[in-house]
Amino acid sequence: MLETEIVETNLERESTLIARIPSDPIEQQWDKCRFNMKLVNPANRRKHSIIIVGAGLAGAAAAATLGQQGYHVDCFSYHDTPRRAHSIAAQGGINAAKNYRNDGDSIFRLFKDTVKGGDYRAREANVYRLAQISLNIIDQCVAQGVPFAREYGGLLDNRSFGGVQVSRTFYARGQTGQQLLLGAYQALEEQIAAGTVTMHTRSELLDVVIVEGRARGLVTRHLPTGRLECHAADVIVLATGGYSNVFYLSTNAKASNCTAIWRAHRRGALFGNPCFTQIHPTCIPLSSEYQSKLTLMSESLRNDGRIWVAKEKGETRAPNDIPENERDYYLENRYPSFGNLVPRDVASRNAKEVCDEGRGVGPHGQGVYLDFADAIHRLGLETVREKYGNLFEIYQRITGEDAYQVPMRIYPAPHYTMGGLWVDYHLMSTIPGLFVSGEANFSDHGANRLGASALMQGLADGYFILPCTVPDYIASTKLDPVDTSHPAFMSVEAEVRTRIKTLVSIKGKRSPDSFHKELGKIMWDDCGMARSDAGLRKALARIPELREEFWGNLRIVGGDDELNQSLEKANRVSDFLELAELMCVDALDRSESCGGHFRVESQTPEGEAKRDDANFSYTAAWEWKGLGQAPILHKEPLTFEYVPLSQRSYK
Ligand SMILES: Cc1cc2nc3c(=O)[nH]c(=O)nc-3n(C[C@H](O)[C@H](O)[C@H](O)COP(=O)(O)OP(=O)(O)OC[C@H]3O[C@@H](n4cnc5c(N)ncnc54)[C@H](O)[C@@H]3O)c2cc1C
Repeated sequence: MLETEIVETNLERESTLIARIPSDPIEQQWDKCRFNMKLVNPANRRKHSIIIVGAGLAGAAAAATLGQQGYHVDCFSYHDTPRRAHSIAAQGGINAAKNYRNDGDSIFRLFKDTVKGGDYRAREANVYRLAQISLNIIDQCVAQGVPFAREYGGLLDNRSFGGVQVSRTFYARGQTGQQLLLGAYQALEEQIAAGTVTMHTRSELLDVVIVEGRARGLVTRHLPTGRLECHAADVIVLATGGYSNVFYLSTNAKASNCTAIWRAHRRGALFGNPCFTQIHPTCIPLSSEYQSKLTLMSESLRNDGRIWVAKEKGETRAPNDIPENERDYYLENRYPSFGNLVPRDVASRNAKEVCDEGRGVGPHGQGVYLDFADAIHRLGLETVREKYGNLFEIYQRITGEDAYQVPMRIYPAPHYTMGGLWVDYHLMSTIPGLFVSGEANFSDHGANRLGASALMQGLADGYFILPCTVPDYIASTKLDPVDTSHPAFMSVEAEVRTRIKTLVSIKGKRSPDSFHKELGKIMWDDCGMARSDAGLRKALARIPELREEFWGNLRIVGGDDELNQSLEKANRVSDFLELAELMCVDALDRSESCGGHFRVESQTPEGEAKRDDANFSYTAAWEWKGLGQAPILHKEPLTFEYVPLSQRSYK
């Protein structure tokens, strides 16, 4: 095993961050690692308890698989059913290096595309394993009956996503997440019926309990009654999704939040690359300041849609009246090799640039066209309808426009967070016994995630990695019996109760939403698509002031011992107000540009992100030191042995 070195920067403290990356050649690492793992005898498995928080793709897959292995699993979700997890919203597809098209794909190519797409800020070992496991995921889901799209002859169909030149994205129309989640859900239900998994719906994790240095339990709030409950286990897994809602407006489900990972961070789990967030290029533009949600138009649309704006500023004609020679297909012109299929960070930045130049379209000039006229002409209306019908319908219902007749209008929006809790190769955080999977961990995507890779990662974590690494932890750790009468549970529960009572008793004037909206604007303006030293410092001055106002002037309607959505929101916003500060600290510290993290001070003469490998080739893992205290930065150095560092180019 290689131990990664720790370099302390801000504050001095002796510690070691061990990534547990096997030292074998990369193609053998995962197999050898699995072979060396300890196993738990089937008859002993039922004596061990595992808590899984989250029943989206990452959580449901892990709960179903570990339940099937025979462990006693408790699965928690604040939703009223696992089927409501945000994973259901995923539209476009899931990658796998099956090479069914025989177009040059391979495990190594998916690995390389992902490392390059993430702008060389991901761990090679994890990415290679992800590409390897991608093959098994498709087999697993097909066996479950997931209705992936098929070609006329019956074979599974594929399409392309950004940042790649092969077709490796498996899809179920524009509802891939829904179909995959139904597959995972039915596997989970089977285990619930078998009695190995107990499902706790409408239960929200509000804190993690550590006993003798190991994660051993949770404090949850039962949302319908407000009752606080303690739960103990041998292992805890967080599969609680991403934190894009720190921006208030995002493509994520309204309830998605950072509370689980943030509370674990406050208990000692290091937070990896918090500033790495993804702004997705194809979303329906904002139409009103009262809007509380943004809607994604799947990246799959870039397979056939052509992106353009008028060549001249201030164009007022309707799109269909603008002749070909007066249009600027700016992605096709600037990036001839990848065209409209450049990675998301590149597509988003270019859209912002043409809008900043005054060439944006739509009522507020914050939009570009995504045009299907050529595709309809080439493929026929019915083929386009078959491939993307539900997306056109979503667009029509929201904008009132028929995208078969006029081009869609799209604009970038917060969508995905590559940052999350730091985990080692076994997906364990820096708190022993606390594992983190899916979007909640700092993940395999570096500074920019390629499309259709999140579903792949969540399912790789849930179906294939945790079912090996969690048993290995159980088999190799002496776990003394712990139950909820342990003083650690009482003390954490008391802290949670005090926090909730404090929130309810403030009785100020502003709603949780009004604080959230203001925070979102600060983050979008100063820690969004472009980040500058001055802007980040401004945000870092403003966020603590807003947080102080929150704790002095918040108004929650209703009490804490009942169903209270205003309290639920306030609790989540209180965590966003702390996480936002860490995101800005991280963004300020990383004065290079990479992937979705675009520091205006660090760009190439053509305006592309300019990395600084000499100084920033590391994962930033931050340690919580208390509110108002500077966090400590730990660095996990990144080395690129198989995909040599190079300037990313999609030209
Ligand atoms: C609109 C949209 C479209 C997308 N399309 C694609 C796509 O086509 N392909 C792709 O690869 N990716 C796509 N993504 C990204 C992908 O959907 C997500 O990254 C992925 O589904 C996250 O899965 P997850 O299991 O990690 O988390 P989630 O699905 O968000 O599940 C989180 C679970 O945790 C629970 N939870 C959270 N906090 C708590 C708490 N404190 N207490 C109790 N329970 C808690 C929730 O109830 C839920 O069950 C898309 C994302 C969006 C927003």
